Amino acid sequence: MARGRKPKIGITPNYDYEKDVISINRGYCDAIQKSGGLGIILPLNEDMDFLQSIIQECDGFLLSGGSDVDAKYYGEVNLPVNGRISPIRDRVELFIAKKAIEDNKPVMGICRGIQIMNVAMGGSLYQDIYSQIKDKEILKHFQDAPKWYPTHEIYIEKGSRVREIMGLERLEVNSFHHQAVKDLAPGMKATSRTYDGIIESIEYSGHRFAIGVQWHPELMWQRDPVFLNLFAELVDEASKF
Ligand code: MN
Repeated sequence: MARGRKPKIGITPNYDYEKDVISINRGYCDAIQKSGGLGIILPLNEDMDFLQSIIQECDGFLLSGGSDVDAKYYGEVNLPVNGRISPIRDRVELFIAKKAIEDNKPVMGICRGIQIMNVAMGGSLYQDIYSQIKDKEILKHFQDAPKWYPTHEIYIEKGSRVREIMGLERLEVNSFHHQAVKDLAPGMKATSRTYDGIIESIEYSGHRFAIGVQWHPELMWQRDPVFLNLFAELVDEASKF
């Protein structure tokens, strides 16, 4: 990348089928801007040539939170407990995640994003942790508290990238999910968990920066700057790409 040019980070938005509106929480965009990157909201388009052109323009990607993934992408049927599905987001984001990982291009997935990254590389998800995990007590992972407020603790693996970036072994985070990574994709490592064993972060081995987190740092960094670290590292890696 040319010296002095800000790295472009493609951010995937939500799509509301009823209203025909694309939208994104400001926290993602502001975090990229604050980290010195140029956040670009990606148009969701199923034209793969168009998508390929947009992808080439980006130095890194941020896969945002959102609805559930169609279970067919991990070889299952959709059970009643699987929530709302966004066909266009599934297609676009699975494509971007796979491409970014194959091309060693920086990519970070948040909430739905961690799930997309795992599925894109051949892993699977719990369609609903509460109805599908019966052998242990599961924490409250869909909090009923302000969005920035941390409601559970995670334990971060020694030697992992997330540990290095956050600088902590234990971290209190927010939680807004009823699904989670089940079987890890080949090459994907779980790097943090809650005490109930739920995977809260993953990273792809040998990649310059392919990290997924189950919590929402885009809602926390405004009050606790340590949560900006992940975005800063994404932008930094993208600037080297
Ligand atoms: Mn959680």
